[in-house]
Amino acid sequence: MELQGKVAIVTGGGKGIGRASALALASAGARVAVVDIDEPAGKSAQEAIAAAGGEALFIKADVSQASEVEAMVQHVVERFGRVDILHNNAGIQTYGTVENTTEAEWDRVIAVNLKSVFLCSKYVIPHMRRAGGGSIIITSSVQGLASQPNVAGYAASKGALLALTRNMAVDFAKDNIRVNAVLPGSIDTPMLRWAADVLTGRQEEAIQEWGRLHPIGRVGKPEEVAEVVLFLASDRSSFVTGAEYKVDGGLTAIL
Ligand code: NAP
Repeated sequence: MELQGKVAIVTGGGKGIGRASALALASAGARVAVVDIDEPAGKSAQEAIAAAGGEALFIKADVSQASEVEAMVQHVVERFGRVDILHNNAGIQTYGTVENTTEAEWDRVIAVNLKSVFLCSKYVIPHMRRAGGGSIIITSSVQGLASQPNVAGYAASKGALLALTRNMAVDFAKDNIRVNAVLPGSIDTPMLRWAADVLTGRQEEAIQEWGRLHPIGRVGKPEEVAEVVLFLASDRSSFVTGAEYKVDGGLTAIL
């Protein structure tokens, strides 16, 4: 119960990596605000936390919209009184080169994946400062380091998040706010299964195939990313800030 008394916000907390993170933070004693655009998924994560004996609040919000983020943070502070941990995790996957991506598609992926982190951090940081510090974790991707074909907007958003992680770490270290990134490889979530369907039409085979590209020989589980998030959220990582944690089964370690 190392996070007893702490309050966490997890964006995209209804499904996949965010859901696993919300459950892990709650099982370590944090009260958790699950924020998601998908209401049934968010409520289901809230119920799973309650069923395991934790305390959670679901807030429906589109984290790319400033007014919704501001209201969401206000709601969390009214209910729980503070914010100590922010897992900026919500994201969408889009496909296209710079040539065939529309301006609207570009704006959407940058807004959801990158601007949301700016907005959530902007509204949460004053509350963290008041609480004496905090930990911000950003879900980037190995695609922020190396690209597959046809993911111009997505790769740009994930690379920019790494620069933003470093900048925020430098700007807010004096406030005892640490900022770190997790960079997952392929993780078995609804997003990955959707991508396997869209790209190949053979969901299960594609997941197995992609798994074999990782030296560990399989895709990751959301809970394996959540373990690293939990470490970065806790005081066990008290001297870690501005860091990038690859959780990729060795994918980016091979030539
Ligand atoms: P996921 O299964 O799609 O879950 C993400 C959740 O975020 C969904 O419930 C989604 O709702 C929600 N969401 C999307 N846009 C939102 C918005 N504007 N406001 C609030 N909530 C929103 O995704 P995941 O695979 O767990 O991915 C989580 C993060 O990890 C993303 O940032 C992703 O880029 C990153 N990542 C994933 C992988 C992977 O292999 N899975 C690898 C590297 C990085 P909808 O479903 O309704 O959109």
